[in-house]
Amino acid sequence: MKKIALVTGGTRGIGAEVSKALRNAGYLVAANYRSDTDTAEKFHRETGIAVFPWDVSDYESCEKGILKVCETLGGTVDVLVNNAGVTCDRMLHKMNPDDWTKVLTINLNSIFNMCRLVLPAMRARNYGRIINISSINGLKGQVGQTNYCAAKAGVLGFTKALALESASKGITVNAIAPGYIATDMTAAMNDDIKERIRIEIPVGRFGDVAEIANAVMFLADEKSSFVTGAVLNVNGGQYM
Ligand code: NAP
Repeated sequence: MKKIALVTGGTRGIGAEVSKALRNAGYLVAANYRSDTDTAEKFHRETGIAVFPWDVSDYESCEKGILKVCETLGGTVDVLVNNAGVTCDRMLHKMNPDDWTKVLTINLNSIFNMCRLVLPAMRARNYGRIINISSINGLKGQVGQTNYCAAKAGVLGFTKALALESASKGITVNAIAPGYIATDMTAAMNDDIKERIRIEIPVGRFGDVAEIANAVMFLADEKSSFVTGAVLNVNGGQYM
């Protein structure tokens, strides 16, 4: 029987490439998204991958969404990739409480919501792969991103704790800390800042979404059963 993989924010950017890589490896894939229906429907037409809209920062929406995924694909989630994320950059002295709450709830509370809801079935079957997408900036900090860096650092602590709780149950829990990757998220940055960042990357370029998908596939592999609680840096050699 095919394994089921669920990718949050799985219809655009890094998530879309991860969804396709999992589909190509033989998984039944569910790609979640929030509100960009046109992109999600285009992605579905082009790939055949089932798409499901819900807001991962809301627990009840996650509960309903996961139920729909399981009913549609006919099973429970074997591989969960917590990829959905947003930025809302501002220096702290200018940051509104809403900028803080939005970034924390979408990038960090979502990980609690999704893991809390898929774990009971994984524990019952003694198998699971959870892969949380953090960020290089959760490790080293970044100007204008106290909210994002706090959330992404929180993802790392969460990952290590849940890995310990899940180790005896055949469930691995790992994080990937991507460096700068060419997606809509980084396209929104101004060209001067992008160039300043690029020259600090030893390989001399931003990463490609396929390079993150490749790391996800390694951690999702059944054979990666001795890798848990790890943070995999995929960042072109940047030192932290
Ligand atoms: P992206 O191109 O902006 O795509 C973000 C995806 O997340 C979209 O599918 C979006 O859905 C979804 N999403 C956002 N908020 C959501 C919510 N509340 N509920 C459900 N889905 C939601 O982002 P990306 O660059 O691929 O980044 C993917 C992940 O990698 C993020 O966690 C990001 O922080 C992390 N990361 C990215 C980089 C980078 O350089 N790009 C570097 C380090 C880490 P809609 O399509 O409906 O908007």
